[in-house]
Amino acid sequence: MADPWQRLVVEHVRGPLLVVGGPGTGKTSTLVEAVAQRVADGEDPESILVLTFGRRGASRLRDRIEARLGRSSGLRTTAEPMVRTFHGYAFGLLRRAAVDRGEASPRLLTGPEQDLVIRELLPESGAPWPEALRSALNTRAFATELRDLLLRAVERGVGPDGLAALARVHRRSDWSAAAIFFREYLQVLALRDATGRGSVAYDYAELVRAAAGMLADDEDLLARERNRLRYVYVDELPDTDPAQVELLELVAGNGKHLVAFADPDSSTFAFRGADPAIVNDFEQYFPGAVQVTLPHSRRLGEGLLAPIGRVAARLRGPSRHRAMLPQRAGGSVETRTFASETSEAAFIAHRLREAHLLRGIPWARMAVVVRSTARQLAPLQRALHTAGVPTTTEAEDLPLHLQPAVAPLLLLLRCALDDARLDEDAAVALLHSALGGADPLAERRLRQGLRALALAAGDRRPSGLLLLAALRNPAELAMVERRWAAPARAVAGLLQQARDAAARPGATAEEVLWAVWHAGGLAERWSALSARGGHRGAAADRDLDAVVTLFDAAARFTDRLPGAGTDVFLDHVEGQDLPADNLAPMADRGDAVRILTAHAAKGLEWDVVAVAGVQEGVWPDLRLRGSVLGSELLVEVLAGRTMETIGRLSALLDEERRLFYVAVSRSREQVLVTAVASGDGEEQPSRFLIELSIDDEQPGFEAPRALTLPTLVAELRVALVDPDAPEERRAAAAALLARLAQQEVPGADPGGWWGLPALSDERPLVDPGEPVQVTPSTVESVERCSLRWLLERHGGALTPSPEQSIGNLVHAAAMLAADASADRAQLVAYVADRFDAIELSARWLAGRERDRAETMLDKLIGWLAGNPRRLVAIEQDFLVELADPEAPVEIKGRVDRLELDEHGRLVVVDLKTGKSIPANANLAEHPQLAAYQAAIELGAFEESSVAGGAALVQLGGETNTAREQVQPPLGEADDPNWAQALVQRTAKTMAASTFSAVVNNKCRVCPVKTACPVSGKGRHVT
Ligand code: SF4
Repeated sequence: MADPWQRLVVEHVRGPLLVVGGPGTGKTSTLVEAVAQRVADGEDPESILVLTFGRRGASRLRDRIEARLGRSSGLRTTAEPMVRTFHGYAFGLLRRAAVDRGEASPRLLTGPEQDLVIRELLPESGAPWPEALRSALNTRAFATELRDLLLRAVERGVGPDGLAALARVHRRSDWSAAAIFFREYLQVLALRDATGRGSVAYDYAELVRAAAGMLADDEDLLARERNRLRYVYVDELPDTDPAQVELLELVAGNGKHLVAFADPDSSTFAFRGADPAIVNDFEQYFPGAVQVTLPHSRRLGEGLLAPIGRVAARLRGPSRHRAMLPQRAGGSVETRTFASETSEAAFIAHRLREAHLLRGIPWARMAVVVRSTARQLAPLQRALHTAGVPTTTEAEDLPLHLQPAVAPLLLLLRCALDDARLDEDAAVALLHSALGGADPLAERRLRQGLRALALAAGDRRPSGLLLLAALRNPAELAMVERRWAAPARAVAGLLQQARDAAARPGATAEEVLWAVWHAGGLAERWSALSARGGHRGAAADRDLDAVVTLFDAAARFTDRLPGAGTDVFLDHVEGQDLPADNLAPMADRGDAVRILTAHAAKGLEWDVVAVAGVQEGVWPDLRLRGSVLGSELLVEVLAGRTMETIGRLSALLDEERRLFYVAVSRSREQVLVTAVASGDGEEQPSRFLIELSIDDEQPGFEAPRALTLPTLVAELRVALVDPDAPEERRAAAAALLARLAQQEVPGADPGGWWGLPALSDERPLVDPGEPVQVTPSTVESVERCSLRWLLERHGGALTPSPEQSIGNLVHAAAMLAADASADRAQLVAYVADRFDAIELSARWLAGRERDRAETMLDKLIGWLAGNPRRLVAIEQDFLVELADPEAPVEIKGRVDRLELDEHGRLVVVDLKTGKSIPANANLAEHPQLAAYQAAIELGAFEESSVAGGAALVQLGGETNTAREQVQPPLGEADDPNWAQALVQRTAKTMAASTFSAVVNNKCRVCPVKTACPVSGKGRHVT
């Protein structure tokens, strides 16, 4: 090791030493070297103990030491693992002592098990809980709060009496009730141990304190342990809690060899009881300790140190170690804000692809760090996948119940056990999950099928209720087309399997889960995908891992709590908000960008790190933890710090800032920090992002072409066919496309370009000599844009909106009203009876829309009262021929109302329920009304062939009364034949072989604009 400070540490063999260093200063490497040196010096590996935090941390450190020892041929097997977590070491001590005494091995009580004991005990407890808390006593959240309070008390050596005393001093009636509960809880555990398996059960906090207590009480045992351990190393010292420090003091205090490594700025586990004050107080606990500060940052280059240092400068606590010296140039920090999460994700995807494709950085050497995977993971993962960035989320980074493969299984079990949980949201989630396999189109088709069948039987329930009914009773799906019904059938079958399995006497959670898993057939599907490899294979691997972990959790749960039902297991899994400990062997993830939380990122490093979603309110997350029973407050009180809310908030802000510091200091080369700054001010970038920013003014980011093959091919094709592009550019595009086509890149070979083959059919739409049927409403749309008319007629039309459906319903009711004597109640009842059949975007709109429909009916009745004409017919069909020497034309349609005016002329009245109303100035040329008049004059109705004009009656809009808009009689026009000429022209356009896109004022709402060459949304197909 070239660095003299690191050498100093490696060579240290006597007394306590505190090694302090910022991120990337080589603390862990120095620890590994020191251990290797001891072994190389001939020390017995059994005499060396390395303590660290978390199973993952321990396993990583173990791997590194083994790799290092393997290289120096000092590797040998030891009876006691050299690298332990504090809990693992404490458990080992207790177990060894129990074995020596001939007693059964102790057991570890997991958090959820503790919750369960607490929840069982709470209703029977005699603790006088304050009135305000009583209603919360049987909730899971309260049990978790209470567990936290007890854990923090135990970690700090406070028993029931101590807690009661603190309650008196600080006048907290909840602590005083908790103290009584605490005593009962300990008695119940002791009783269980005595009557149960004969082994003592410890929870996590008790474990370390019990081991320390045992050593303190047994001088011989302590002497043996101190004798055995000649060298003790501790990684991540600031993450220790007081109980751990006490244990450390016993085995490595009193001047023994101890080397502890610390970055005081990286303590991020206060919510688990960690107390970083140990770094300052190290010498008090370990008198005579010397301190070494590692000054060289190997990870952070010059360009990273300065901006990241700005965040560090705001952290409280010792600061000497922050003045790090870079070991190399380079490194950059980029901070950006975006108008939306979508553009934020697009930016991250672009930068990651850039690093991979242009700088050759493997995906696995990049990471995206977020504050919380529960909130941010899914949208990020989706966006990165879409942009062609492979990602991986390791099971241990996400709570088990949120894993995409596990969540639907749990939801299904929940719905099977408790029918009230099966609501529309749950049904849709299950249909769209891997268990149902439906996509949005399939869901829509299923809803439509169920509605159509129900309506035919006079059932007007909305599709959501029909969906739920079908999942409860799959017989309802019998008449729905098989492929659309399949997902619902699958989910309904699995729900039944789960109900049956849970109803068997003595059924365990594991058995119920197995019944569903086995019936779902996912194991075979995912295994096949996994075998195929690629991104989908990796995703299937991940899903299988998560399910194995779930089964493992179910097996352990059943083993520990044999009598507990499946619902308790679901509570247990859903209550685990921290990432699950994954015991399943992890499949090879391949080369992928890892998405993980800042907590999980601690101790790791990558070349490129994006820290995403750095929003105010999310990061810092200043919600006071443990606030119901004040567990964090207890910690502060016991540490002699302030009890004020403001002080606690400030401590929380410090911890959040340290977490952010950890996140931005994980990269060797490039750090991207991003947030959303929405225009409405709802989303604001975090203060941390601003502290890190170099400039107040950030340059805007225009995402260039995505660095993917499909976009490259698309760009080359556009360049190739652009008539304005310079010849060399087009030739270069052609040459590149040819190379890509040789490599069989999809879309590069012109043989597959849709626009190049000759037209498949050049014949006109209507064969010569065949009559062309024109309806009055068609005239207007064909006249406006014949391409839109053609595409809408052949499948491009939208399904009617809820507003249009309500208009149609009013229209239908209006057919019952001949004149002003119409029975309003009958019309309203007609609408009300059919109203539920309309799919509104939200049910709460129903009242408003019903009022709107009634208002239209009132306007109709009002208009009828003032209408001077006589009714001839309502909803009258007609068909009339228009002689044309070139091609026969028929005008066909149905009029809402046919009326006679005082001169005996026929007037067609068309009722309108929409909101848009034509300008009066355009009425004289209104195509639809003109076509009606032309039909009258051609003899469509026997009453008369003289048109007295035509009228639109507007029932929609904001006015209180109906508005009648009249087109004068054709006979009064300058050219009385203009309407027939218009119909003939329309017929010719409709029968042609080519159709034109004509820009008009309705283009904005055109449903086929993505297929239109002039809309700007559509594209040429080359
Ligand atoms: S966008 Fe306009 S021009 Fe294009 S098809 Fe639609 S209506 Fe016609």
